Amino acid sequence: MQIKRLPALSDNYMYVLHDPQRQTAAVVDPAEAKPVLQLLEELGAELVAILNTHHHFDHVGGNRQLKESFPDARVYGGVEDKGRIPEQKEFLQEGDHVEFAGRVGKVIFTPGHTRAQIAYYFPPESPEETGELFSGDTLFAGGCGRLLEGTAAQMVESLGKLRDLPDNTRVWCGHEYTLKNLKFALSVDSQNSDLQTRYAEVEQARRHQEATIPSQLGIEKRTNPFLRWEDSALQTAANSKDPVQTFGYLRGMKDRF
Ligand code: ZN
Ligand code: FE
Repeated sequence: MQIKRLPALSDNYMYVLHDPQRQTAAVVDPAEAKPVLQLLEELGAELVAILNTHHHFDHVGGNRQLKESFPDARVYGGVEDKGRIPEQKEFLQEGDHVEFAGRVGKVIFTPGHTRAQIAYYFPPESPEETGELFSGDTLFAGGCGRLLEGTAAQMVESLGKLRDLPDNTRVWCGHEYTLKNLKFALSVDSQNSDLQTRYAEVEQARRHQEATIPSQLGIEKRTNPFLRWEDSALQTAANSKDPVQTFGYLRGMKDRF
């Protein structure tokens, strides 16, 4: 399974999964159809699946047009998103699986940003492979999604599930927000040397308009404040020993940052 990252709209990413043997493809969160159709043509691949993480327009905006070109493509999303994702026919919940290119994608229910959000995790099937996590707007590189339909407690539980995955898991998230996220992270966790190093690298990459995605989960665990609700520096900043309160405080600060 090869993964191709496509920029969309102002700061979204869409991901085309390609199976060169079968000449098939799947797409995660197609914000727009056009760049996806163009890439499929270059690859000579048939689109067999659309994997949506949640109903927001910048993640499903290309569904209809893609279905027009590939009427047999199956459109997946969370069961709680029923009625909100165009063309959705497959309703997924925690523990369900999707299959592509001989890989099995596990569905992880991750409410918080929306009440229905899901993530797709493809575990490695051999030592040469890495796990691939498509986290939508739940986990970002250096940050997390806003709480639009969910609570801090839900988000902590959702992010906790993602945090349990192996360190070498690659994280493919919905937006290029990394630099801004790390600016905020440094403001609350300034003594974290892993974070300082990462910030310098990301700043450099963005100066050259390079993408910062995929990220790696191990780096997120060390530098992303929204996975570090047990960290004493962050608990001190939030003036709390409680994970949910610490998370909620940081999320509130980030909203105003
Ligand atoms: Zn969203
Ligand atoms: Fe989004």
